Amino acid sequence: MSFVVAIDGPAGAGKGTITKLVGEKLGLVNIDTGATFRCVALNMIQEHIDIQEEKKIEEMLNKINIEMHTDGKIFLNGEEVTKRIRENDVNRLVSPVSVLPIVRNKLLEVQRKIAEGKNVIMEGRDIGTVVFPNANVKIYLDAAAEERARRRVLQNQEKGIESSYEEVLEGIKDRDKRDSTREIAPLKKAEDAIYVDSTNLSIEQVVEKIIEIIEENK
Ligand code: C5P
Repeated sequence: MSFVVAIDGPAGAGKGTITKLVGEKLGLVNIDTGATFRCVALNMIQEHIDIQEEKKIEEMLNKINIEMHTDGKIFLNGEEVTKRIRENDVNRLVSPVSVLPIVRNKLLEVQRKIAEGKNVIMEGRDIGTVVFPNANVKIYLDAAAEERARRRVLQNQEKGIESSYEEVLEGIKDRDKRDSTREIAPLKKAEDAIYVDSTNLSIEQVVEKIIEIIEENK
């Protein structure tokens, strides 16, 4: 039996950083499901496929290969795309793409398969509600939009990606709205998830809090 920790929440709440650190401390495999949606969006850009072209999207999904290595590197059809999937064109396309039922169905299968037989900490939008409704521990990690935008700009800088605060804030608000109002698997707190607001907490404090929650629920 595998052990699953689900971390859901909006863009920039700190899910990526926190999941990685908690995973390392507790020996859980870290799975970033947003990256799988980003890979689909990037593949559409590469193959010049429009969001309306369902048949072409289906064909593309039938041959897509997404790999997540333990060192955090992400490969799409054999090519390393770790940085590429964080760029603006992908940011803009990923939310509209993640609304498509055909994409969600395919990635649900991919995500469950990646976690199979492992002890994992998985981050996304619908992990506690749809992907693993029976997860051992569910956390909903939130923060104020302005703080999330500030963090994203810093994070981009560290990765060598140029971005302006206003542009990032607008992008975050737009994605929040699309992600929480879509029909299938919207972003929302699972009833049995524990709510953690990280707005005024340091990374270390959030990590500590989440480890405490996991230990209590083991
Ligand atoms: O987490 P990240 O910001 O990389 O996710 C990118 C986008 O992928 C989200 O804005 C959302 O539209 C989509 N997503 C999703 N369900 C998940 C993870 C991400 O719909 N479990």
